[in-house]
Amino acid sequence: MSPTTVAEHRQRVAELVGRMPVLQLPLDECLGLVLAADVIAPLSLPPFDNSAMDGYAVRAADLVGVPVRLPVTDDIPAGRTELSALEPGSVQRIMTGAPVPPGADAVVQVEWTDGGPGTITGTVTINAAVEAGANIRTAGDDVQKGDAVLVAGTVLRPAQLGLASALGLAELPVRRRPRVLILSTGSELVEPGQPLQQGQIYESNGMMLASSVREAGGIAVQLRFVPDDVDAFHRALAPYLGSVDVIVTSGGVSAGAYEVVKDALVSHDVRFTKVAMQPGGPQGAGRYEGVPVLTLPGNPVSAQVSFEVFVRPALLAAMGHLQVERTTARATITTGLTSPAGRTQFRRGAYDPSSGQVVTPVGGPGSHLLSALALSNCLIEVPQDVTELAAGAEVTIRYLQ
Ligand code: AMP
Ligand code: MG
Repeated sequence: MSPTTVAEHRQRVAELVGRMPVLQLPLDECLGLVLAADVIAPLSLPPFDNSAMDGYAVRAADLVGVPVRLPVTDDIPAGRTELSALEPGSVQRIMTGAPVPPGADAVVQVEWTDGGPGTITGTVTINAAVEAGANIRTAGDDVQKGDAVLVAGTVLRPAQLGLASALGLAELPVRRRPRVLILSTGSELVEPGQPLQQGQIYESNGMMLASSVREAGGIAVQLRFVPDDVDAFHRALAPYLGSVDVIVTSGGVSAGAYEVVKDALVSHDVRFTKVAMQPGGPQGAGRYEGVPVLTLPGNPVSAQVSFEVFVRPALLAAMGHLQVERTTARATITTGLTSPAGRTQFRRGAYDPSSGQVVTPVGGPGSHLLSALALSNCLIEVPQDVTELAAGAEVTIRYLQ
């Protein structure tokens, strides 16, 4: 049987995870989520003609022959809801953002007058003329009522949430965050902070995968490890089956004995395959009691690369992101490397985008080299048919930041 390709497994994972449902969420819960429908402006912005300056609302025609001295008949602070019409030959004091009174066609800024910030006096001298329309922000300048101001698929960042607020919207339609259960397996694992005995190791995949889920915008439920015991595995998952959207396990899927995940799930609707990649060959995907389950290999670098290649794009797509890929770049490698025939290799690299597109491989291909992973900021992708690359060769990198 020929191994599954990276692209085939990616597709399978994405299909399993599917799309999260759309719901209306308050704006303060929407940061980083994806808009699920176009936003049609329910009003224009600005909603009314208003002053761009502190100064005086005037009729431009009254200023011919400046300096002119004119009576001040009203005072309009921002927030005023009722206005008196501006009579010819008079002015009204007006503040930035205040509505322009009917009859006025321009605003003269206070600096061009002898008016001050105190209580208004009976008259003001205006020293410079303005054109009709000067210093007025007209209704609809920014947004016309009925415009599609934000389109479905937009990632909601601060500016988009500001615009929604300005339009008076308290909620937006978004796809909700997936709840992802992270379960590590292995009888050798010990929780950080606890004493370690000879032959045991601290559990690290759980923290790494849960953080990756959160970084992708999901909600991680980190359930710290079960031993290599099938009954313990089933018991650990049971309480979560009704409340999570995806289960991600690590460990227990390779070719040895005591492969707890394989043993527990093989009779369920889960298919275990060998994907043509290094690291991260042994993969499984399917459903456990109806819940999508993705089983990643246990070696920490394998688990993290598997998340990056398969799980992250699926979670982003589930939330409605149109862009699910990392930024890629072409770069030349500073040292040569070898790669197994017939497998896509993902090597860890240190890439400096400001240095002229050079990438330095960090550590070797070993999938236990966690410190090298921690020193890297990209994956170097070596295609399936390439077995050797010399220093200076050009490669594609996925930038992880
Ligand atoms: P497995 O896939 O279960 O055979 O594990 C492969 C290797 O990864 C073994 O050396 C395990 O000890 C290690 N490993 C598995 N799960 C974890 C984990 N959650 N944290 C740290 N190392 C792990
Ligand atoms: Mg194990």
